[in-house]
Amino acid sequence: MFACLDFAPGQLPADRPRYLMGVGKPDDIVGAVERGIDMFDCVLPTRSGRTGQAFTRAGPLNIRNARFAEDSAPLDPACPCPVWATWGRAYLHHLVRSGEILGAMLMTEHNLWFYQSLMADLRSAIAERRLAAFAADFRDRYASARLA
Ligand SMILES: [Zn+2]
Repeated sequence: MFACLDFAPGQLPADRPRYLMGVGKPDDIVGAVERGIDMFDCVLPTRSGRTGQAFTRAGPLNIRNARFAEDSAPLDPACPCPVWATWGRAYLHHLVRSGEILGAMLMTEHNLWFYQSLMADLRSAIAERRLAAFAADFRDRYASARLA
């Protein structure tokens, strides 16, 4: 995808918005924005939320994993959404594992906040001409967490 995006946006009119359909993962969005993409749509924040995957600045996590059963930490301490302020990981783990619809709702709400916050931060980084530094920092934290 990035090989295509290294080429295609340069072929499009500079004064028109560039839309990339069906993307995507947070690190793919950051890389696409670096390559000139302006707009996205994707089911990932909601579909992943319904299946127990949360996106965080420290990488994705699956709340279904047993290691969260006793974890009272916030879902994502860096997230401004109301989900973390009210419910810890252990309760979300319980809700999702039990098939309670509230679990899917809360995980989805968090993921939508995460994506909105990421896009707001990308817009600020572009306006302040620090997109490359923002993207490098995002990738460092997001990728290193996935290896943990
Ligand atoms: Zn959140």
